[in-house]
Amino acid sequence: MTEQPGRGVVLIAVGDEVLGGIIVDTNSHWLARRLREAGFAVRRIEVVGDVIADIAAAVRRAAADQEVARVVVSGGLGPTPDDRTLEAVALALDLPLEEHPRALAHVKGIVERIHAAGWFPTPEISKANRKMTLAPRGATILNNRRGMASGIAVALDSAGAERWLLLLPGVPRELHSLVDEEAIPFLFAGAAAPTVVELVYRYAIEAQFTEPMEELARLFPDVKVGSYPQSERRELIIRLRGDDPTSVAAAVTRMQALRPLELEEGLGGDASVRAVPVDRR
Ligand code: ATP
Ligand code: MG
Repeated sequence: MTEQPGRGVVLIAVGDEVLGGIIVDTNSHWLARRLREAGFAVRRIEVVGDVIADIAAAVRRAAADQEVARVVVSGGLGPTPDDRTLEAVALALDLPLEEHPRALAHVKGIVERIHAAGWFPTPEISKANRKMTLAPRGATILNNRRGMASGIAVALDSAGAERWLLLLPGVPRELHSLVDEEAIPFLFAGAAAPTVVELVYRYAIEAQFTEPMEELARLFPDVKVGSYPQSERRELIIRLRGDDPTSVAAAVTRMQALRPLELEEGLGGDASVRAVPVDRR
């Protein structure tokens, strides 16, 4: 299946915590689903530690790949010395970091509110929090309704602005609202989600699907077909995915002709076909 042109994405998760197996990279999982639903295709997910050279190398690699329309980096935007994403991006793209008026106003507003509530002795922005007023030159600031570190979008092409780097805070609830409210409308609009259909076989033998899957690949090159055994439920999912709903429907019909679902009933199970809703959890 050929992906829609200009819809390729690389995700880069930054954090020693992920590399050390201390936390699970749920941000990349969540982003992969959301961006697929928005019609974008994640090509690679990379995890790097809180190391400037490693973050910069990952950003450079992704930015150099012309098949990649969006590079999304999560984590390392906070106030502490182990938050190094901005410095690494500045190095990778050879852009100076400058105070951005929108980021400054955002940090200022939060600090003043915290001070007014009596939780902070001064309304001044501390050196640590000043880090979150910075952005690479020419960047666009995206509002983080739930936290101090703004989202940052940087155009990767000097002309046309077709390819973008997006920096997101690591805290999941901040990342979620920033993506849904700001990033999707700005950077991931206008594409259609692929059509996904699952055929669910009970007690099926996976190897018996090899030839039918080969035939589907020949007949419908624009439809991706995958086999996913669910051993605990004793089910086999054959998942078909494509940009053209008519092609996917024709491939489903063909698969059912090659491997009728009724056959599985003879093996003691029931069988069903279901379309996967876009918001499948
Ligand atoms: P902060 O302002 O809190 O420092 P940040 O943008 O610098 O945010 P990190 O310091 O990298 O982000 O991570 C903050 C917290 O968010 C982590 O302690 C972790 O709990 C969570 N987190 C970070 N990265 C991920 C990830 N890839 N998946 C899930 N949770 C994550
Ligand atoms: Mg941090």
